[in-house]
Amino acid sequence: PDGEGNLVTANEELTAQRDRARKDYEALVARGLKLDLTRGKPSPDQLDLALGLLELQGPPTAADGTDLRNYGGLNGLPELRAIFSEALQVPAGQLLAAGNSSLELMHDAVVFAMLSKVPGADRRWADEPEIAFLCPVPGYDRHYGICERYGITMIPVAMTPDGPDMDAVEGLVAENPAVKGIWCVPKYSNPDGVVYSDETVRRLAAMETAAPDFRIFWDNAYAVHHLADEPAEIADILALAAENGHADRVFVFGSTSKITFAGAGVAFFGSSPANVTWWLSHTVKRSIGPDKINQLRHVRFLKDAEGLRDHMAQHAAVIRPKFDLVDKILTAELGDSDLASWTSPAGGYFITLTVPEGCAKEVVAKAKAAGIALTPAGATHPYGDEPADRTIRIAPTYPDPAELQTAITGLATCVRLVATNKRLNA
Ligand code: PMP
Repeated sequence: PDGEGNLVTANEELTAQRDRARKDYEALVARGLKLDLTRGKPSPDQLDLALGLLELQGPPTAADGTDLRNYGGLNGLPELRAIFSEALQVPAGQLLAAGNSSLELMHDAVVFAMLSKVPGADRRWADEPEIAFLCPVPGYDRHYGICERYGITMIPVAMTPDGPDMDAVEGLVAENPAVKGIWCVPKYSNPDGVVYSDETVRRLAAMETAAPDFRIFWDNAYAVHHLADEPAEIADILALAAENGHADRVFVFGSTSKITFAGAGVAFFGSSPANVTWWLSHTVKRSIGPDKINQLRHVRFLKDAEGLRDHMAQHAAVIRPKFDLVDKILTAELGDSDLASWTSPAGGYFITLTVPEGCAKEVVAKAKAAGIALTPAGATHPYGDEPADRTIRIAPTYPDPAELQTAITGLATCVRLVATNKRLNA
């Protein structure tokens, strides 16, 4: 009942909500904001944690005495590979440190496979009539960008709380030899924070594939990026693949982009001995060696696996309050409504906001018109097309807390406006 004892219908209540949202939205637009939540970038505070990296103490030599100022060392600095071996679950001898971007390595892996047979392949991917990759959705738009660039058909597969829907994955890889790969972000996935269960990892490692040269692109970008007190552990896919007779199935990728400097870190490639040999046979043509001085700086700065853990705890201390803030605001603004749900990830860089079907694009457009830039709706799906139009990726790390508060409150206003309107017009 309302104040005068009349029964308020659901419709009237919804109309009142929409009118409140309209007022709030007008006020929001009037503020003339200019805020950016588009990409998962570390904040300046986080980058400052790694300032020590700029001071190279001691001589520019490797543990074995190699002068790192010179050419050579294509595999990367052994002592750095040893530090990251545990986190990436790759034996140091099968882990390479190269370049500053893991995306670049994923891109190159596709190009190398196009141009020369991967171990186990009957022919080069470029000579296949069709190449398809499975894309768990929601997922990472830059993976899709690589596929689009090289004409790889993308087949979406639903994500579950345990990782990709494995019944669907097993069915697709078993029946279609054109399916040559799957993109996986196994820990704190981008954007929904999913951690693959042991069973999912085991099934990925063990499944039968129609393509003899099927590859799992294991993009472990958030391997050490914990937000919860208990770090998530995932099963060892390289070991499981080898145990199941598919030693060459997995390409592991990682980087220090969100550990040290996003633009001046180190990237890693790990795989079976045969794949590593294949990889090096191509990279040897491409470079005389990586920036080993930067790699040495990383060794001196991080020291060992324990040092890496300590450093990541400092990141968590900076960004966990931002994730908590987003959750608090969304709960206050939308918690009582059935207009949205959102993830509370235990790690990684993103929160996924799910709005009613058919609303995401309009919410993002309304936010943009109010000066709040978000990742385009649909970007979490192949070809930028999410048929249900309901997923919005929030990247809370970069803005300072005050900006974040304004942006998320504004975003919630846009959700209330668009979702109530949609319901009233349904
Ligand atoms: N993979 C995933 C899943 C990511 O989220 C990102 C960064 N947004 C990258 C790779 C990019 O990594 P890098 O900086 O090493 O190229």
